Amino acid sequence: MRSSRRPPMTGDGTRVVRAGLPEPVAHEPSMPGPVFAAHYHLPGEPVGPYTYGRYDNPTWGGLERAIGELEAPGEAVGTVGFPSGMGAVSAVLLSQVHSGDAVVLPDDGYQALPLVREQLEAYGVEVRTAPTAGDAQLDRLDGAKLLWIESPSNPGLEVCDIRRLADAAHEAGALVAVDNTLATPLGQRPLELGADFSVASGTKALTGHGDVLLGYVTCRDPELAAGVRRWRSTAGAILGPMEAWLAHRSLATLQLRVDRQAANALALAEALRHRPEVTGLRHPGLPDDPSHAVAARQMRGGRFGCVVSFTLPDRKRAERFLAALRLVDGATSFGGVRSTAERRGRWGGDDVPEGFIRFSVGIEDQEDLVADVERALDESAEDRAPR
Ligand SMILES: *Cc1c(COP(=O)(O)O)cnc(C)c1O
Repeated sequence: MRSSRRPPMTGDGTRVVRAGLPEPVAHEPSMPGPVFAAHYHLPGEPVGPYTYGRYDNPTWGGLERAIGELEAPGEAVGTVGFPSGMGAVSAVLLSQVHSGDAVVLPDDGYQALPLVREQLEAYGVEVRTAPTAGDAQLDRLDGAKLLWIESPSNPGLEVCDIRRLADAAHEAGALVAVDNTLATPLGQRPLELGADFSVASGTKALTGHGDVLLGYVTCRDPELAAGVRRWRSTAGAILGPMEAWLAHRSLATLQLRVDRQAANALALAEALRHRPEVTGLRHPGLPDDPSHAVAARQMRGGRFGCVVSFTLPDRKRAERFLAALRLVDGATSFGGVRSTAERRGRWGGDDVPEGFIRFSVGIEDQEDLVADVERALDESAEDRAPR
């Protein structure tokens, strides 16, 4: 009865504030607090939704329902939460792929993928790689069990045509997983584009406050979801209830954050294109970016993400620029409400120039942020060490 009083869940903004919440109950909080339980009260036969804490938890369930509603509104999908993005990535690959199978991974994706590759190869899996942009994946699909796509990619911001690759992969008998971290489900719905798994780190823009690590996997096929869930129970890589609750609470502002961050990122990218010291400027929202045409077709609502990447002439210049910023913290990761930036080459894992900057744009006032970056670029032009 009560549900008839609910507003129609049409717009993203309406959906995010209610996603995954229970029907209102008199004198109860609209969002129940985290449930901390290792074991549940379980007399008699061991049946029912909650038996032991490694198998399920009602706080995970609320977050998982919410993410499912955002990844595939109106559809019955299965979402499985993980304690980190890598937990989710590993769960898909290690639960689906077996010795003797072949998988196709991006060669320019998240910097921990090479570690996953080593693990897969140690288990007797053949790993083929292809760049995100272009269609080289098509030549690697023959006999493959799974195609892994990261679009837009981190940190290069390359984009691939998800539907085209998913169709080709399915024709070749391969499953398709898309890392949706950068876009968030408000910016891109991989399952609608043909993917079997939408996988993401919730550590970044999904939760947006830089205070929680989290990951998830969403799939339409209940058997695939069950396989990933079984993997979680077996590996024991389970989400903390507090983290799940924090993440769920953060979703209410997801639309506000991603819209503001996307607008700020585009404004920053537009400002950077006029700077002579900046090369290799990338942001999928820039109309002349090599990723733009495909991104505009498959991403939603002009939400091209909060990351802008560019290259300064050398390492010293990049370090001086980062040190001169006042509104931007030096930090890794991305997607938070406060802008952060880093010289990506300091990790050694990405194939990027020494002066490459990955800039994560927050929700500050656009004019303040752009002014801070312009000033830091000016001040870092020369090595003005005090005499
Ligand atoms: C950060 C990131 C991951 C890993 O997520 P964690 O939460 O740090 O484990 C995976 N994929 C992409 C694209 C990422 O940016």
